[in-house]
Amino acid sequence: MTEIVTLDGTRANLSAPEISGLRDKIRGRVVLAGDTDYEAARRVWNGNVDRRPALIARCAGIADVQNAVRFASTHGLLVSVRGGGHSAPGYGTNDGGMVIDLSPMKAVNVDPARRVARAEGGVLWGEFDAETQVHGLATTGGTVSNTGVAGLTLGGGLGWLMGKYGASVDNLIAADVVTADGQVRHASATENPDLFWALRGGGGNFGVVTALRFRLHPVTQVLGGLVLHPLERAADMLRFYRDFCPALPDEAEAYAALLTSPDGIPMAGMLLGYNGPIEDGERILAPARKWGRPAADLVAPMPYNARQSMLDAPNAEHGLHRYWRSAFTEQISDDLIKIVVEGAHRFSSPLSALFFFYLHGALTRVPANETAFGARRAQWDFDAIGQWTDGSESASHIAWVREIWRQLEPHLQGSAYINHIAADDQPEKVRASFGENHQRLRAIKAKYDKANLFRVNSNIPPA
Ligand SMILES: Cc1cc2nc3c(=O)[nH]c(=O)nc-3n(C[C@H](O)[C@H](O)[C@H](O)COP(=O)(O)OP(=O)(O)OC[C@H]3O[C@@H](n4cnc5c(N)ncnc54)[C@H](O)[C@@H]3O)c2cc1C
Repeated sequence: MTEIVTLDGTRANLSAPEISGLRDKIRGRVVLAGDTDYEAARRVWNGNVDRRPALIARCAGIADVQNAVRFASTHGLLVSVRGGGHSAPGYGTNDGGMVIDLSPMKAVNVDPARRVARAEGGVLWGEFDAETQVHGLATTGGTVSNTGVAGLTLGGGLGWLMGKYGASVDNLIAADVVTADGQVRHASATENPDLFWALRGGGGNFGVVTALRFRLHPVTQVLGGLVLHPLERAADMLRFYRDFCPALPDEAEAYAALLTSPDGIPMAGMLLGYNGPIEDGERILAPARKWGRPAADLVAPMPYNARQSMLDAPNAEHGLHRYWRSAFTEQISDDLIKIVVEGAHRFSSPLSALFFFYLHGALTRVPANETAFGARRAQWDFDAIGQWTDGSESASHIAWVREIWRQLEPHLQGSAYINHIAADDQPEKVRASFGENHQRLRAIKAKYDKANLFRVNSNIPPA
């Protein structure tokens, strides 16, 4: 017998024939506690998420996903769906339930003539970019290379190309989905358009996405890098930054961060980028590079892939412990700056950071109800990120984030990018983050997942 947690939180027992019946149907692998690969299979990106699912179905293809979903549905199991496993709250796993793990599904097919690419549900952005860059093509992905294409896109998808080409969802042409009834559905503008609308920002609420098809754009050499200032200049730099962002053309990106340099010194930085002719970028980014005589200016031309992995080490390495709070803000007030700077003076770990990501350009010109991702205004996604390597220190690093968040929250909006919402944010914040799209999402959820099988996420209750 295998004890397993069900959808209503009670425990059920799966018999040996039931488990072997599933094993017979799965071309990939069914991993149970005690199996030699269980320890590796249960781990997700965030080392602070230490959960022990009862059963992990490592899917090799769409038929495996179908069989896994039918099994979870029939037995009414608590189920997590894992793409890249990068969710900071650990939605790609759970305690005692089932995980449908797509990480073995890695195919990426590029059609350079039509400028489209198809990625399976377990592909990471670095893997996707490697294939599309062979042809000098790219689409909007995240700012580090090891996030999952599926989870990031389903929540919206913010990254270096969003000003010019919109969010990842704005480049999604179609998706294949296994819904809670085990059916495979193709979702696009012409097939199941309600599902397609909901997938573009509604997160993992609507089914298991086995493949995504994207529009690609020519992107090769870009300008990118950090400009660094001593922490004493942080308040002045953030005041410059808030005035610099609104004038940016679509091709330019500017993020700001308070972080710790590799030699252990807390600093203020602007992360600058330009996706267009390098000479134009040099001119447009010049004011930010010249401002305040930086301690270091690392902005340089580089291949797109290099910029996509620029933030990977040491801040996004697999197994780091992370606790993260986030919200949007349309203003960077002096009060907000003061709290942020004081927070950086009290960093409890050199891997922690306070970040402003600026949303602008093409992303903001899409009407808010055209996709489920409705954050279509020029604004900053603000992130208080606690990161550390030693699990025994978790309490103090989480306390640093919670304390700064207690002070910051009144100066930020009550909504956030749904991929950045913490598990301990209130359901009201999830609702507010979906905004006016929430009711429509609830109706579509009821159509495709009435029992709320897919609930380990920023959840949308069925209407
Ligand atoms: C270091 C770091 C950097 C980040 N940078 C960015 C960034 O630049 N831009 C940005 O937009 N976001 C960023 N994120 C947030 C990121 O978008 C989310 O964590 C996202 O959910 C990760 O997707 P995943 O597939 O890796 O995660 P998972 O943990 O596998 O899944 C996350 C959620 O998506 C669902 N999901 C995943 N795959 C599927 C699938 N195939 N079908 C259905 N549901 C699925 C899961 O059920 C879960 O609810 C970052 C996160 C981290 C930790």
